[in-house]
Amino acid sequence: MGIPEVIVAAPSQLSRQHFTVRMPDPANHLLEVELQIQEVDPEVPLRLRLPVWTPGSYLVREYARHVQEFQAATEQGIPLAWRKVDKNTWQIDPPGSSAVKVCYRVYAYELTVRTNHLDLTHAYFNGAALFLYVPGREREPYTLTVIPPKPDWHIATSLRPLTSPSEDPTSGQSFVAEDYDELVDSPVEVGPHRVQSFEVEGIPHYLVVWGSGTLDVDRAVADAKAIVKTTAAFFGGLPYDRYWFIVHLSPGGFGGLEHKYSTTLLYSGLELHQPESYRRFLSLLAHELFHAWNVKRLRPLALEKIDYNQENYLECLWFCEGATSYYENVILLRAGILSAGDFLKILSEQIGRLQRTPGRAVQSLRESSFDTWIKLYRPHENTLNSQVSYYLKGALVCWLLDLHIRHLSGGQGSLDTALQDLWQRFGRTEKGYSDQDLREAFERAAGADLGRFFAAYVEGTEELDYNAYLHPFGLTLKAHFSRPNPIPYLGLNFNGEGNRISAVEMGSPAQKAGIWAGDELVALDGFRVSAANLAERLTAYQPHQIICLSVFQADQLKHFWIPLDPPRPDVYTLEVLPELTPAQEALQQGWLGSLVGAQLRSEAGPHLLENSPISS
Ligand SMILES: [Zn+2]
Repeated sequence: MGIPEVIVAAPSQLSRQHFTVRMPDPANHLLEVELQIQEVDPEVPLRLRLPVWTPGSYLVREYARHVQEFQAATEQGIPLAWRKVDKNTWQIDPPGSSAVKVCYRVYAYELTVRTNHLDLTHAYFNGAALFLYVPGREREPYTLTVIPPKPDWHIATSLRPLTSPSEDPTSGQSFVAEDYDELVDSPVEVGPHRVQSFEVEGIPHYLVVWGSGTLDVDRAVADAKAIVKTTAAFFGGLPYDRYWFIVHLSPGGFGGLEHKYSTTLLYSGLELHQPESYRRFLSLLAHELFHAWNVKRLRPLALEKIDYNQENYLECLWFCEGATSYYENVILLRAGILSAGDFLKILSEQIGRLQRTPGRAVQSLRESSFDTWIKLYRPHENTLNSQVSYYLKGALVCWLLDLHIRHLSGGQGSLDTALQDLWQRFGRTEKGYSDQDLREAFERAAGADLGRFFAAYVEGTEELDYNAYLHPFGLTLKAHFSRPNPIPYLGLNFNGEGNRISAVEMGSPAQKAGIWAGDELVALDGFRVSAANLAERLTAYQPHQIICLSVFQADQLKHFWIPLDPPRPDVYTLEVLPELTPAQEALQQGWLGSLVGAQLRSEAGPHLLENSPISS
């Protein structure tokens, strides 16, 4: 057999802008892209641009840095001169022809949910990082033909097929996108995966897995189905006619990216047999699915029409990501995957993470949202002191808002009713909402003004008053020490890179003495000490005692005399009050679906959770 004939769609089926993606040599990590453009003006230069970011991940990623070997020609194959006019725009001389063909290669070796990855095991690509657009023609339909390199590689994407998959996948398959937004919003997985499918409300859902791990796929399908059913019931039906879960398993990986008809989940696969790891995987899956409503269709004005060429600023990511992060576990609770006790444990772990972040007193949620383009995705040694995550604090503020609305409305309203109201008003018709619309929806649900709450917790940096909101529900938050003999407070953080200090907490004894991130820990009171045994060694000291800490600072050995502070609580638990009034019982049951008293008392206990990486 020779090279198989490429069976693409008939020319009459192709859009005026048609892409072909090949990957003939996966070992070189280069995706080959061809774009045929019809109906161009022969007399004027033609500009083509690549996005600088992809929706759902708010950082300018400069995808154009991976483009190479750009070429342009007329339909007849006559080469056309071109030049770059800015970092991500190519300008072709007036073509003298109404049809132009452009070819380029894209280096694809960054395994994240928002970039491209090609190796001997699969190809995965995101439109924003691969497909050039002609400014002004983004609303036109696009067609795409994908040509796998091997007969056992198949194509998985939420794009609508234009042709059926052929017996020999290497002959290619074509798809159609109604416009550039849909093309960008539809990642493509090509590889030897198996497709698992299930239906909810008659709508097909597909799950494909790439990579190695201990995921029990049958169980994941059953749990995904329960999560879809619960989320559909929450919003009153499914907003799509098909949905794909693309799962990438890779050691140490974590992330998710939401799309209208699909999601990509990146997760560390080798621990997935462990209940806690699997639970977090399901939370991630529920999170990205929830985005099919909240963010992809119910979206802020700033995202109503996307500008791919620059930052799109918005101040309500604390709601877009925070509410979604809160509901990722609410949905698991309501789907019967989490117990109420488990659910409260997750909340108390989140409280612990926020309370160990000094930056919560420095940056508000609104600032964190607006500045995400330069801050959240670019953490550095002072992030802990100067920033707060709109995922973490956003989830906790949305939770408190839920409790507050339930209390103010006597259990009639909730964050559920506010979200359902927003969905009806804005989500169903995909009309962008303003920050004012958002607040009005919460106030309608509460039947009260929420100005004070917003000023303190969204626009301001006031400490969250958990117990004020918990008391009407018969619950209380308690702070504890994770060790039986608590260690005096010093303020150093290590991230596992040997004895190098990764961050020093502002205002801590270590910071005030002159120690800072990057310093390398050497000795405590003249004896060698390491990141691994520092805490244990400090248990021998009392608060206010002065220690001598020796470090290498820029390779110079230095000694610092530091008075220790008293220990600080580092874990939190949500506990049930000993006696509940009927009103407290009613609110607690309304929120959690059951009373948690006996269950919580038996399950509760301090335990630590490591900091989560950023998800989308
Ligand atoms: Zn998200």
